[in-house]
Amino acid sequence: MSENPRQELRELAIHLETWLKFQRRLGSVGVPRPKQLSASPQKSAPAERPTLAEIREELGDCQRCKLARGRTNIVFGEGSPQARLMFVGEGPGEEEDLQGRPFVGAAGRLLDNLLSKLGFTREEVYIANVVKCRPPGNREPEADEAAACLPFLLKQIESIQPLVIVTLGRVATQNLFQTNAPLTKLRGSWQRFKKIKVMPTFHPAYLLRFPKERHKTWNDMQQVMEYLAAHEAD
Ligand code: URA
Repeated sequence: MSENPRQELRELAIHLETWLKFQRRLGSVGVPRPKQLSASPQKSAPAERPTLAEIREELGDCQRCKLARGRTNIVFGEGSPQARLMFVGEGPGEEEDLQGRPFVGAAGRLLDNLLSKLGFTREEVYIANVVKCRPPGNREPEADEAAACLPFLLKQIESIQPLVIVTLGRVATQNLFQTNAPLTKLRGSWQRFKKIKVMPTFHPAYLLRFPKERHKTWNDMQQVMEYLAAHEAD
């Protein structure tokens, strides 16, 4: 017990005031500050996001690169405009070119299978590709083709603003991040594209050829599912 209870009380009051000020700065006590007060008043309102229909309209009867000559259909992408989970592949194959829909061939069936095991339907996610026209003979898209088409993928991402993007294979991953880093270096670990979490994984066509690798994609998707579950309310 202090010899001077008054002095002790005063010191206690000072400690308490200091502690309260500190906690208030952290936002843990007191009336929470309205969000707009902490935002910079100079910041302009975020620009309106383009809708998928507007992006499709802008793409039009695209002749921006040489892939236009060989295509039957543009494969724009499909799924929910509000998808929390988005997949990005490389480019349409023969079946996709014929139907105008992404991932409807053999690789697509494997992707469907994966989706259903994870409890998703195609309608709940969004599926797009780096290039929207089929490269001849299913070759990889060339740099000029990917460069001509990438702005449309970026607009689709901006429009949907998914919580997570899963890039399927090296071409999708390298193009999204504009990197030459090998897929082996990026696969299975979280990356970030702007504010969106990205999980690079194997392309289903690769998994058809190397079924023993499927467990790795399964593990990658478990990370995705955990993240989605933890951000249910976002
Ligand atoms: N492979 C892809 O990368 N995309 C498709 O749409 C189909 C196969």
